[in-house]
Amino acid sequence: MRLREVNTKTTPARTLTQAREFDTLYTIVLTAFFDNINADFNNMDFSRREFLKASLACASCLLLPGGVAGASGLYDELGSAWKGNLGLHEARYYTKLEGNRVRCDLCPRQCVVPDGGRGYCRVRENRGGTYYSLVHSHPCSAHVDPIEKKPFFHFLPGTSAFSLAAAGCNMACKFCQNWQISQPAPEDIRSFKLLPSGCAKLAKQANCDSVALTYTEPIVYSEYVQDIARASNEAGIKTVVISAGYIKEKPLLDMLSKISAIKIDLKSFSNDYYKRICNTTLGPVLETLKTIKASGVWFEIVNLILPTLNDSLSEHKQMFEWILSNLGPAVPVHLTRFHPTYKMKRLPSTPKSTLEKLHKLAKEMGLRFPYIGNVPGNPAENTYCPKCGKLLIERRGFEVSSVNIVSSKCRFCGERIEGVWSSTIEKRRALVG
Ligand code: SF4
Repeated sequence: MRLREVNTKTTPARTLTQAREFDTLYTIVLTAFFDNINADFNNMDFSRREFLKASLACASCLLLPGGVAGASGLYDELGSAWKGNLGLHEARYYTKLEGNRVRCDLCPRQCVVPDGGRGYCRVRENRGGTYYSLVHSHPCSAHVDPIEKKPFFHFLPGTSAFSLAAAGCNMACKFCQNWQISQPAPEDIRSFKLLPSGCAKLAKQANCDSVALTYTEPIVYSEYVQDIARASNEAGIKTVVISAGYIKEKPLLDMLSKISAIKIDLKSFSNDYYKRICNTTLGPVLETLKTIKASGVWFEIVNLILPTLNDSLSEHKQMFEWILSNLGPAVPVHLTRFHPTYKMKRLPSTPKSTLEKLHKLAKEMGLRFPYIGNVPGNPAENTYCPKCGKLLIERRGFEVSSVNIVSSKCRFCGERIEGVWSSTIEKRRALVG
């Protein structure tokens, strides 16, 4: 197998499919590994014996022929996964107050925490007047995902992201898809030890181009995110963050200085919705988006559409106007379909017609790259050139079948297409048999 550069002409579907098959195999292997040794292991009780059995079974998988040679080094980086496995690490963003209290300066909640107490996110604790992160180097979930799943559509399409989560969130969205790991206290779910340097090493072994901090809210473990990004940068791996953007400016700027891309959930354009559905506020999220725009770090927006709650044309008209005035027309906006979950099981899935109406509005108002998400096969999953209208990136779900972007431009008319396309990684991704 040899490698060649892909961004000089239309990427053949066959080439990307081959690469995807390689990654799919790896995904299955890694997913089995983590699932079996209780990475998302919150519904099971796992004995040490079962853990060893699962580890051995997965060790055999990793040594199967077919392109995963070298993966056995994985074990050097992982510790056992157990409930109550806390990673005590002094927090970076807090102020000491009288009486051994502390004020957390990481997110706009600014929790004032007494000695022995924890902040709202449950993963930061005051011990004797010193504030600690309880989840540093202790993720609870890990998978290899397509970058399109984050979703990033304009960031190294067709590549894989080594995706990690630690427990915790500073919001309480009633529709959270990952509530089993975002809402409990860290000692109530299993986690394993993974140092930042080990994370970069695993990403390399899994042929990933990036490490993605995702599934829960990376802001609440900012110290770990920044340490991972530093170690990954040294190893030539990019770091991307998937967040709801409820963070104060200083830690945000510190994080942005180390990462390559960030996806922000703009859950609604109504403060009332943020309060009622997510127990938080809209203003700081808008400030975060403006700060990211000014920083130059690549970013995309996801807006999850809940029927009757945040699906009106008038609200979206305001949202799109704000995006155009403050962030410009080039930010990709993913209008994503909701499926019933967690505390919103009675709400139906978003009708496709609603998504299509909002997508049409976004295009008419001048957004260059609006997308429909969670509707596999919808033509609005593809990227089209805003100037000539030709198909630039063809997708189905998380699969990329063709790319017609050459040196960051439309292959047909030469229009500049905003995003992060070129990388040495692209050379690695085009596998030719
Ligand atoms: S990060 Fe957690 S502890 Fe800190 S202010 Fe936000 S919710 Fe409170």
